[in-house]
Amino acid sequence: MGQTLDLSCRCGYRKAVQVGSGLLSIQETAIRGLFTQEELAGFDKALKAGEAGMFIHTQKIAHCKACADLFSVPELSYGNDGQKKYVLKPCPNCGGQLAPRDSAGVCPKCGGELSAAEANSLWD
Ligand SMILES: [Zn+2]
Ligand SMILES: [Zn+2]
Repeated sequence: MGQTLDLSCRCGYRKAVQVGSGLLSIQETAIRGLFTQEELAGFDKALKAGEAGMFIHTQKIAHCKACADLFSVPELSYGNDGQKKYVLKPCPNCGGQLAPRDSAGVCPKCGGELSAAEANSLWD
């Protein structure tokens, strides 16, 4: 199940982000709704070649340096063990490249430690 985290910092920065995978995250049609055809070009090639392996959509916390903000964006991972490939959506605000994180990490505004609280809602 996908979870929602409430990130907060002492400087006043707050953001609710979705993380994890949901019920539809392994469905190809659902995945196609999240990414553009260009973004899926490599995935399609792998599918055709029978090399897509186990594929899954995960919501990731990602940092945009240009916006000094955190976002929750879909990441697709596919490929056989040992040669996993990742497709990460660009920044929804500026279209720039994002750096994904596995945990809350530090505040994009002040660099302080973020605290993460689990919100009582599942997104899927
Ligand atoms: Zn940005
Ligand atoms: Zn802060």
